[in-house]
Amino acid sequence: MSNADYLVRLNPEQRAAVEAVDGPLLVLAGAGTGKTRVLTTRFAHILLQGKAWPSQVLAVTFTNKAAREMRERVSAILQQPAEGLWLGTFHALAARMLRRHAEQVGLNSNFTILDADDQNRLLKQVMEAQRIDTKRWPVNGLMAAIQRWKDRGLEPEAVTPAEDTDYAGGRATELYVAYQDRLKALNACDFGDLLLHVVTLLRKNPDILADYHRRFRYILVDEYQDTNLVQYYWLRLLAQGHKNICCVGDDDQSIYSWRGAEIENILRFEKDFPGAQIVRLESNYRSTRHILAAASGLIAKNSDRLGKTLRPGRADADGDKVTVVSSWDSDEEARMIGDRIEAAKRDGQSLGEIAILVRAGFLNRSLEERLIAIGLPYRIVGGARFYERAEIRDAMAYFRVVAQPADDLAFERIVNLPKRGLGDTAMQAMHGIARAESIPLSLAAARALETGVIKQAKAREALRELLQGFERWRAMLDGAGHIVMAQTLLDESGYAPMWQQDKSPEAPGRLENLKELVSAMADYESLAAFLEHVALVMDNDEAAEGERVSLMTLHGAKGLEFDMVFLPGWEEGVFPSRRSVDEGGDKALEEERRLAYVGITRARRVAVISHAANRSIFGNWQSQIPSRFLDELPPGEIIREGNTQRARPGPSVFAGGGMFAQRPRRMIEAGAWEVKPRAAATSAFKVGERVFHQKFGYGRITAIEDNRLDIAFEKAGDKRLLDSFVEKI
Ligand code: ATP
Ligand code: MG
Repeated sequence: MSNADYLVRLNPEQRAAVEAVDGPLLVLAGAGTGKTRVLTTRFAHILLQGKAWPSQVLAVTFTNKAAREMRERVSAILQQPAEGLWLGTFHALAARMLRRHAEQVGLNSNFTILDADDQNRLLKQVMEAQRIDTKRWPVNGLMAAIQRWKDRGLEPEAVTPAEDTDYAGGRATELYVAYQDRLKALNACDFGDLLLHVVTLLRKNPDILADYHRRFRYILVDEYQDTNLVQYYWLRLLAQGHKNICCVGDDDQSIYSWRGAEIENILRFEKDFPGAQIVRLESNYRSTRHILAAASGLIAKNSDRLGKTLRPGRADADGDKVTVVSSWDSDEEARMIGDRIEAAKRDGQSLGEIAILVRAGFLNRSLEERLIAIGLPYRIVGGARFYERAEIRDAMAYFRVVAQPADDLAFERIVNLPKRGLGDTAMQAMHGIARAESIPLSLAAARALETGVIKQAKAREALRELLQGFERWRAMLDGAGHIVMAQTLLDESGYAPMWQQDKSPEAPGRLENLKELVSAMADYESLAAFLEHVALVMDNDEAAEGERVSLMTLHGAKGLEFDMVFLPGWEEGVFPSRRSVDEGGDKALEEERRLAYVGITRARRVAVISHAANRSIFGNWQSQIPSRFLDELPPGEIIREGNTQRARPGPSVFAGGGMFAQRPRRMIEAGAWEVKPRAAATSAFKVGERVFHQKFGYGRITAIEDNRLDIAFEKAGDKRLLDSFVEKI
């Protein structure tokens, strides 16, 4: 595309929103109407018109993936790499700002960003130090209150009695103070602090704020409906200079109220930026007609809406109706999805354009098992999950100590991992020194060696080796680089060898993950940059690129689009979630419905919604009632398929009511999902025949002995199985 063409690819309303670069502007429009496209084009337009340098535009996206995409699209329009941009998620941008002025809030610029686990551990320590009974007053409860305050931009002293809780007999704010103090002592902050500290420092330092006013001539914000109050304050502070702020959003896609997002920010915008232009976009360019009509019909059941028109804007045909499939159980549902994906693949559909979107992560298990069994490449989109694995967190703790010797939480995690013979007494001695001298734990460890408080020679030697190791590894950063450092560290510290010697079945997988971690580091220029990335990596971060099916949560799918979207698990108590049904009232239910709307509107061409009559939830089989959302879909836009009765394998037809009539009680009691007898299977197998097994996938029979079959499975290798568990195909 030549860079003169970029405006031609817009409709008149979009074009107006792109060209009105000066002054406050709010684009309020439904899914797939080109809001993100407008924002990206506007960015390029500002640069091409010479209104600002790339570094003078602040652009906020909801995910790191969206930031990457925006960078690519801006580069394409500019026909050169876009560099020096302030483009990223709220957290990433706030972290960058905070590093520049960390001293202003009592931190060093190399502060650590704690993950959820570390945060909880730290808060627990704080509570225990204050003699709070954490059995009676769970750490999570206080953490939730603190996060809520941070989301609302409240430092401890700003918490009013109305916003306070009666947690631990009214001691919540006092504990909040202690927690913040502890974080500062560790040169660390949690996620909520990133924005909170930045807002505080901008409020307290008019000169710094004025600097940013000069710098940021234009501000662009995507997914505005999901900003929380502290993010809003940050935007408002920064936009007060030029007032050139453009926010795009859709109230129907507000799905993060549980994380403090406030839809009222849309109303605040109009109030705080008087004379703001409001642009509405009404043509949906993403989805075919039936998909759009199904989604629109569903969201129309919500009463709390600003109200919008949405009409099909795609020139091509109506496309297929939305398919609603009923299955007997979750395994059968997973099978149905696998089969449809395989069929689509045979028809030339790229796997990278297929997504399975689930309400909750636990739904992944049967889906994953199925995808593995039939050998379809997939990725779980949700980088956090990888980084939450124990071995990854351990390795990261090592790296964090290399980067920042004062990172006590990290040091504590690994000092005795692998076992170095440091018992409780040794650890207490180190903690004692650290407290008494106000020094980091790693220094205290060195001091403990000098003073001889660690009695065991072996432990002393091991600790000395570790501390010397850190010196060496740290020195490697400047010479050999962070990749070599990481490999060397994992070997020399004894951490990787620990897993090599481990005979447990998970050990090889853990070693694989460690390798994966080191190769992920290669994408970053320095250890610090990598640590920053990992700290910021959010649920929906891992890019859904490549020829793989994407498996992710509905929340993570916001803003994305795929040719083909599967939406399994539409059952009461799963979606809408149990919590929203039990306690939430209408508000919570409406948010679930918005989530359903987000899900359906991710699809360009094909949307398949499904539910199962029986689902294994955390190990127990439960009967499930179809989601109320299924009944709310306009009947004219959907076709129903499938069967919730126990069927013989093979093609089944939809058979309306009597949903649970034939469900054998025994299955629930036994909970034995792996040994469901298959009605059609008799011993009429032949050597050489291709068969299918629920767990092992496809294979070929190599030998038969009575009712036992030897089968060479394509993925799972050779197995001997009872014929009743195997199906002919
Ligand atoms: P969401 O609410 O889901 O974030 P959105 O409003 O941000 O959606 P985009 O992702 O920007 O919508 O656009 C949806 C799709 O429509 C994209 O594939 C985009 O390239 C395409 N599109 C947007 N505007 C036009 C247009 N004027 N002509 C053709 N295609 C368009
Ligand atoms: Mg968008």
